[in-house]
Amino acid sequence: MEGKKILLIEDEVKLARFVELELKYEGYQVTVIHDGREGLETFSNEKFDMILLDLMLPGLSGIEICRRIRKVSDVPIIMLTAKDEVMDKVAGLDSGADDYLTKPFAIEELLARMRVAFKHCSNQQNDSKKKLLQVNHLCIDIEKRMVTVNDIEVELTKKEFELLLYLVQNKNIVLTREQILNQVWGYSYIGETNVVDVYIRYLRSKIDETFDEKFIHTIRGVGYYVKEE
Ligand code: CA
Repeated sequence: MEGKKILLIEDEVKLARFVELELKYEGYQVTVIHDGREGLETFSNEKFDMILLDLMLPGLSGIEICRRIRKVSDVPIIMLTAKDEVMDKVAGLDSGADDYLTKPFAIEELLARMRVAFKHCSNQQNDSKKKLLQVNHLCIDIEKRMVTVNDIEVELTKKEFELLLYLVQNKNIVLTREQILNQVWGYSYIGETNVVDVYIRYLRSKIDETFDEKFIHTIRGVGYYVKEE
């Protein structure tokens, strides 16, 4: 998270200052611009990891800035909209924003949304880089969402697949239940935490038992991992 460069385009000076200080406190580098046209210019001249974009701006609207950025970049964009601009949210997402936040917002909410947008972005990059993942006799074709063991296809449900993919992408690393829940079920998931154990059991019965090879390992009291032999 540290050192990521954020471009904040927001004409409410007080709000912009507040967000800037909070983000800097979190370790982000922040550039603040109060004018739409200037904001777009700054985006063109420097490389940023995320754009926080107000909707109503002097010079150029947030929607227009978003459209123009999307023509050249997949950088995560979070729109900041005032309460009375509800109708424009749809337009904001249509123009290519990843998410939006209604003002006034709690800073924790903004930080959470930013983390999600970053995670989503890096997942997409990883996925597009590597289409085929292999550990021992197991192979995952990410594009086809197909899993084979010794070239025999294993049929998995959507969640089983996502769980297996997450384990394999982090092979040899012990993942806690909380990490798995956050990644596979989403940060806002509220429910039984033993859902992870249940799905690990499903995977084991479909993979370990069928192919008589210990694939998913347990570290008692900590979590799970897939071991590359
Ligand atoms: Ca504004």
